[in-house]
Amino acid sequence: MHELPLTQNILDTALAYAERTNSTKVVTIVLRLGALRDIQKEWIEHYFRYISRGTIAADAEILVICDPIVCRCADCEKDFEIDRASYAGEEIVCPVCSSQNYTLVSGTKFQIEGIEVI
Ligand SMILES: [Zn+2]
Repeated sequence: MHELPLTQNILDTALAYAERTNSTKVVTIVLRLGALRDIQKEWIEHYFRYISRGTIAADAEILVICDPIVCRCADCEKDFEIDRASYAGEEIVCPVCSSQNYTLVSGTKFQIEGIEVI
């Protein structure tokens, strides 16, 4: 259950930001979550409700932007999106030139994208 420490971290960051900006309420927290990360957004929301009780972030809305898995062909530099099952399973092949050399350009991020306070 690594969602709990992550959620604690999100809450701490939001509260610190609110304090730094002399705000009285955290309205929205926007998170970016890559499809390859083993993090359930439902658990983040659930834990957040629980640990934010009694803080100025208690009613904050959690918005999660899901990043797709995107690979970039090392030979023709084409970006292509694949699903998680294909990433875990068979060989990844460039749809343009059939090369099997690629780098991952999206899908592993987990970060706070924005915090809205009033
Ligand atoms: Zn290619």
